[in-house]
Amino acid sequence: MNITQQNSPNHWDGRKGWKPDMIVCHITDGSYGGAVDWLCNPQSQASAHFVVSRAGEVTQLVDLQDGAWCNGTSSTPSSAYYTDKSTLAAVRSRGVNANYYTISIEHEGMYSQTHGALTEAQQAATVALIRYIRSEVQRIYGITIPIDRQHIVGHCEIAPQAKPTCPGEKFPFDAIIKALGGTVTQTASVSVHTAAAPSPTASSDNANIRTAQQWYNARGAGIAVDGIWGAATRKAATASVQRGCNQAYGSGLVIDGIWGPATAAVVRTLRSGSSNAAVYSLQAALMAHGYSIGNSGMDGKFGAGTEQAVRAYQRVAGLTADGLAGKATFAALCQ
Ligand SMILES: [Zn+2]
Repeated sequence: MNITQQNSPNHWDGRKGWKPDMIVCHITDGSYGGAVDWLCNPQSQASAHFVVSRAGEVTQLVDLQDGAWCNGTSSTPSSAYYTDKSTLAAVRSRGVNANYYTISIEHEGMYSQTHGALTEAQQAATVALIRYIRSEVQRIYGITIPIDRQHIVGHCEIAPQAKPTCPGEKFPFDAIIKALGGTVTQTASVSVHTAAAPSPTASSDNANIRTAQQWYNARGAGIAVDGIWGAATRKAATASVQRGCNQAYGSGLVIDGIWGPATAAVVRTLRSGSSNAAVYSLQAALMAHGYSIGNSGMDGKFGAGTEQAVRAYQRVAGLTADGLAGKATFAALCQ
């Protein structure tokens, strides 16, 4: 494809040891030329790898092997860019600056006018560009970027609080993924624009989260009961899952509150009818994420309320909403 090169000084050389596996779509909220100029201006301290115009032209500003300054995240819980506020499990679990492992595409458009919708030429150019990016990343890093909504994402999913309208709710993710031959599934981004389901990273006081925090404290966690999902609650939730596995399966895990390969290896799939100590830890983790598990509360029995909460969480977390709490669900809950 035809790509104009115009190098921006706003980047790191290299990616701090990370390899890119996530493509992030943005909206410029300005003209194509204006965006290219601004993202090449040292004063902006911002950039993207590519900018796509409404006419379908593409300019590259930053080499794929270098980190662009487009999705800066924060490790400070009070920041609107805090990694734990992302709706993407990978962003939360990695906890590092998302610029290390992302490739950014800016799309010319004004959110107030388009809400992220692309022109036909622009959409075709984006599809071709993503195809090109995937083949280059394969060639350079030996990585195949999956064609799905966990790897082709919006800025609003990296930083829902700071960037809720980038690239906009009409951005054609599904059409792009279909054109690339991928499978369309319901995703985390939906939760950003509808109030139907709570965010997996509720950022305001939530009674379910308080209940879980109290439950963890009754078991020695010693965390603040503030109704907010954050690093301390996550650690308590993971420790609780580890304890649950030890009690239910005799796993002998070290209870360190850190989700790792040892914990992932012993977690078993829980389903409707399951009843053991691990179910308590699942119920608590769902509540810690802000979900109601129904009237029976934390009873260690995987009933209808727990199943409903699992499905709701899975939908928002971008997992297959099958109501089975297996490794992927526990990993997402604990990371
Ligand atoms: Zn953006």
